[in-house]
Amino acid sequence: MIYMSRREGLKDFATRFRPFKKLTTRFVAGETIDETIRFIREINAEGCSASFDHLNESVTSAAEASEEVTEYLNILAKIDETGIRSNVSIKLTQFGLTLDSEIAYKNVRRVVEQAHRRGNFVRVDMEDSKVTQVTIELFKRLREEFGLNDVGIVLQSYLRRTYEDAQQLVKLPARIRICKGAYNEPPEVAFPDKKDVDKNYIRVMQVLLSSGIYHGIATHDPKMIEATINFAEREGIGKEAFEFQMLFGVRRDLQRQLARDGYNIRVYVPYGKHWYPYFMRRLAERPANIWFVMKNLLKG
Ligand SMILES: Cc1cc2nc3c(=O)[nH]c(=O)nc-3n(C[C@H](O)[C@H](O)[C@H](O)COP(=O)(O)OP(=O)(O)OC[C@H]3O[C@@H](n4cnc5c(N)ncnc54)[C@H](O)[C@@H]3O)c2cc1C
Repeated sequence: MIYMSRREGLKDFATRFRPFKKLTTRFVAGETIDETIRFIREINAEGCSASFDHLNESVTSAAEASEEVTEYLNILAKIDETGIRSNVSIKLTQFGLTLDSEIAYKNVRRVVEQAHRRGNFVRVDMEDSKVTQVTIELFKRLREEFGLNDVGIVLQSYLRRTYEDAQQLVKLPARIRICKGAYNEPPEVAFPDKKDVDKNYIRVMQVLLSSGIYHGIATHDPKMIEATINFAEREGIGKEAFEFQMLFGVRRDLQRQLARDGYNIRVYVPYGKHWYPYFMRRLAERPANIWFVMKNLLKG
C-alpha cells in the first residue's frame, strides 16, 4: 500500500475512477473548504475541535506552492467567518520544500503570520525521514519569530532520534504532536518492531506531559490512550493540559467517548483533490480497511 501510494500511474487511475473516488469519503471530508466545514460543524457539535489539512504532497513548482498559501489563507479566513473550532495542519513539501527550503520557509511564514493575526495555530506535520532535520530547523526559525501558540510541530515515535528531539524541542518551548509515524522507513532510522515504537511513544508522551506545555497526543491505539490517561492521573496533570488527536473517519466511537469523559479531542480533517497518497497510507495502517474498499468496489 505504501509502495502503491507513490505510483503515479495508479494515482491517475484511482483519482479518475468514480467508484473508488466515492470511497474516499471514509477518510477524506471532500474536495473543497465548504464541504469540509460541513463535517467540522458536526465534529464541533460532538464536543471535538478540528484541524484542516489540505491534501497536496506533490507540489512540483513554485507557482503551485504559492497556490497552497492562498488556499490556507482562505481556510483561516473561513474559520473566522464561520466560527468553527479548528486550526490548520500543513506539510512543508506542500509549500515547496523539495524545490527549495527557502521558498518553503517564506510560504509557510505567510500562513503562520496570518494565523498569528487571527489568533489561530499552524501545526507543521512531519513527513518522511529525508526531511525530518530540515523540518525541525525550519520550525525553529518560525518559533524564533512567532509565539508558542502560533505554530507547533510533529514528532514520530518510530524514529530513533525522536526521544532526543522531544527533549530538545520542549526546551524552546514548543507545542508538539506525538504520533507513531506513517511512512516506510529503513531500520537504521526507525524501529522495525512495533513494540519499540509503542515503548518510545509512551516515553515521549511522558516527556511532553511533564513539560507543562499544551501538546497533542495523536493516536487511535487504546493502549497509548490508556497509558496517557494513567500517567496524567498519576502525575496530577489535568485533562485541560493536553489534547488527544485522531483522524477523520477513524475510531469515531472513541473520539466521542473521550469527549464525553471530558478530554480535549481534535480531529484531523483532510480534504482536497489530491487525496490519493493520504488515502493509501490509511489503508496500509489496517488490513480491514482494504477489505472495506474491495467489498464496496465489488458491490459497485
Ligand atoms: C491527528 C493525527 C495526526 C497525524 N499526523 C501525522 C504526521 O504528521 N506524520 C506522520 O507520519 N503520521 C501522522 N499521523 C499518522 C500516525 O503516524 C499513524 O500512522 C496513525 O495514527 C496510526 O497509528 P495509531 O497511533 O493510531 O496506532 P496503530 O497501532 O496503527 O493502531 C491502533 C488501532 O487504531 C485503529 N486504527 C489505526 N489506524 C486506523 C485506520 N487507518 N483505520 C481504522 N482504524 C485504525 C485500529 O483499531 C488499530 O488497531 C497522524 C495521526 C493522527 C491521529
